[in-house]
Amino acid sequence: MFELHILNVDLGDSIILHSQHDGKSYYSLIDCKKVADKTPTVEFLKERNITDICSIFLTHFHHDHCSGFPELYKYLKQSHGTLNYYISPYLPPEIDLRRRIVELLYNKAMVPSVDNIFNAIDGFKKLPSTIHEDGTAKAIHMHYEHNRTPSAWRTDIHPGISIAPVSPDPETAFNYINSALRDSNPHGKLLNATSHTFLIKYQNSLGSHIGLFTGDLEKAGKWSEAKNTCLKITQEAVRDNIRILKIAHHGSAQVDMERCLKEMINMETRFLASISCPPGSRHHPSEKTLNFLKNNFQECIIACTNISAFCESFVLQDNLEYFGISGDEDTFLEYVNNDKSVELADIDNINECAGDHSLSITESGFQYKSSTGRSCFLKK
Ligand SMILES: [Zn+2]
Ligand SMILES: [Zn+2]
Repeated sequence: MFELHILNVDLGDSIILHSQHDGKSYYSLIDCKKVADKTPTVEFLKERNITDICSIFLTHFHHDHCSGFPELYKYLKQSHGTLNYYISPYLPPEIDLRRRIVELLYNKAMVPSVDNIFNAIDGFKKLPSTIHEDGTAKAIHMHYEHNRTPSAWRTDIHPGISIAPVSPDPETAFNYINSALRDSNPHGKLLNATSHTFLIKYQNSLGSHIGLFTGDLEKAGKWSEAKNTCLKITQEAVRDNIRILKIAHHGSAQVDMERCLKEMINMETRFLASISCPPGSRHHPSEKTLNFLKNNFQECIIACTNISAFCESFVLQDNLEYFGISGDEDTFLEYVNNDKSVELADIDNINECAGDHSLSITESGFQYKSSTGRSCFLKK
């Protein structure tokens, strides 16, 4: 059995991988965000009394992907938890480069939390491990080595599933960061472009099931690289066997992503396209990305953690027609406020889409669940 939980953390990522292998449960974490005073990943682990973690993956050093690390470390330390691998993207050791990257990550108000995050990462590396001979967790980078690795799949990262890095080697990442930082106006996008991208593979009697995780990957050339590497690593099996696609960068519009996804996934393939987004945003996810998924992949389940501004107006428009009134959103809301007999059930919930959602793959198939019972309004 393989299960994936995508937690609703507004804009940001907090994902949990769970497999059952030889009668035991195993967990790995991808990113971890703090929302107000809560860290949903930690709540998830606490509720289930999970203290042993195979791997913690960080896709990239933006705070919406790692602000929950201090709480996560505190929880694992206090509960005498274990960790085998901390897997981070490349961060140049050169002090000046590192300083400039950190400046890009956080605005001044957040500077104290940068230290907390780096302290938590140092803490992860000292946690006890259940598999390493020296008894402590290992910090590793996972990079795809072109032509050097006959098989990119690793089975030691998480029992029961294979994991393959798609991101290129540290030298390429370093050259990219170095040249991008020389830009007179370096932007957070340059870090998104170095997002750790990786594939997972789970196999059962029904065949092989592939997941693609892309962090906040954006930037034209990066998508072509990722597409070519995915097709190579999976010997093209990704086309029909993809089950989960973590849509990059919270669903922002990216022409190059659209082109690459069309080239790498068959349109009849049934998969979950998961989008972690804040409520009512115009860009996360964008109307363009939602329509792209809807129009190109017949069997795709689009699951947004929150409803977008586009979907919100779409639902309101639907309701205007339903109630036989013409006018804009304000007219409609005024109408609803004056007439309490109007059925408000649907309207009350328009700020929620899938919320937390999960996918499980068992011998009987593929199952999708969401905390609100919804996926995406566009796919109704
Ligand atoms: Zn992000
Ligand atoms: Zn980012």
